[in-house]
Amino acid sequence: MPNVTSIFGLLEKLESTDIAVRQNRCVVVRNRNATCRRCAEACTSGCISMAENELLIAPDKCVGCGTCATVCPTCALEAQHPTDQELLTACLAATQAAEGEAIIACTQITEAAHGLFDPEKVCAVTCLGRVEESLIASLAQAGASHISLVKAKCAECPQASGVLTAELVCATANTLFSTWNSPVKADLVEKFPACARLAEAKGYDYDKRGFFSGLREDAKAAAAKTTDYAVKEALGVQDRPEPRYEKVQADGTLPHFVPERRTRLLEALAAQGTPQDIMIETRLWGHVVIDSEKCSSCQMCATFCPTGAIAKFQDADGTFGVTHAPGLCVKCRCCTDICPKDALMLSDEVFAIDLLEGVVERHVMAPIKNPPGGPHSIWHSMRDLLACDQVYER
Ligand code: SF4
Ligand code: SF4
Ligand code: SF4
Repeated sequence: MPNVTSIFGLLEKLESTDIAVRQNRCVVVRNRNATCRRCAEACTSGCISMAENELLIAPDKCVGCGTCATVCPTCALEAQHPTDQELLTACLAATQAAEGEAIIACTQITEAAHGLFDPEKVCAVTCLGRVEESLIASLAQAGASHISLVKAKCAECPQASGVLTAELVCATANTLFSTWNSPVKADLVEKFPACARLAEAKGYDYDKRGFFSGLREDAKAAAAKTTDYAVKEALGVQDRPEPRYEKVQADGTLPHFVPERRTRLLEALAAQGTPQDIMIETRLWGHVVIDSEKCSSCQMCATFCPTGAIAKFQDADGTFGVTHAPGLCVKCRCCTDICPKDALMLSDEVFAIDLLEGVVERHVMAPIKNPPGGPHSIWHSMRDLLACDQVYER
């Protein structure tokens, strides 16, 4: 797999009022051998693209749709206009107005259908690629009975590819809802649901309208609580200014972080109850399997794993290796990309129950044959590398 050689510094060009960039979270910035380029693959406007293995960014093409942020596994890119919290707040207000149906529509259709639906019942986004699973799950957590993503004639839209991301997100959200035995469902639809009609057109109940608009402040507070609680309180994630460059920690790994959307999603799912004890396959989590025969105990996977889903351990008796927590894995594939021995496999299937219970597996590693810095380490390494005894040290 070819490397992305020029990502560092380039992502900064994306920084705008629409998109915030946290370069130190990008797995390719953390390790240039990582092959993630989901932002370029999903960008709806050609703003982020690849040409002959070079990442290209044309800031003037960005339409602020936020699709790149939806697919970025580490939240290195964040939608700002609206932010996740602002979008959740707006969606909750619209859901209250629509009596429990969450309706999110792209601006292509809201503009085309102007005057035919009640704008207070619909949350408009530039592209449905902006919608991701933590938003859908948070809406369900707040009481939405159904989530409709209303698309326009996407094939005729300049941002046509955004709908592919929306389809993937819907499928993932529905897998999660059914695994959690939730009756809530998210659907990508071509027409506004009947409840989005202008109330006047069906004999409008003004008392009810007053009641629902009165709930709007409650909705805002609920939205703020949902996000703040999940991110800052439940998992103890603190607001902290992130340095532009990450320093290696005492154990030799790059700093870990948990993307806020993952935290919110797990919190919202936990509110749905206990999942079925089954394996699920989604775009979001992976399960690492390490082949002990191939593994050289170098622990590069733990050094670069962004979230600590793979982390180093060392016991008092000298036993060492890595732990793996599937619930923390963001499926960035950095570990499989950089393993020098091709010893790592990332399974797409994870046990749903492991995600909430914080299951951690231990993988004990064999002692390193030629520890770096040890006596004659370079000589040992060269002899092994060349599979030849006639290597001499001077
Ligand atoms: S996906 Fe959308 S927000 Fe992201 S860079 Fe492309 S146009 Fe801009
Ligand atoms: S999707 Fe995120 S992690 Fe992947 S290359 Fe783009 S910014 Fe980096
Ligand atoms: S374990 Fe998951 S999060 Fe960590 S590097 Fe591998 S794929 Fe990425």
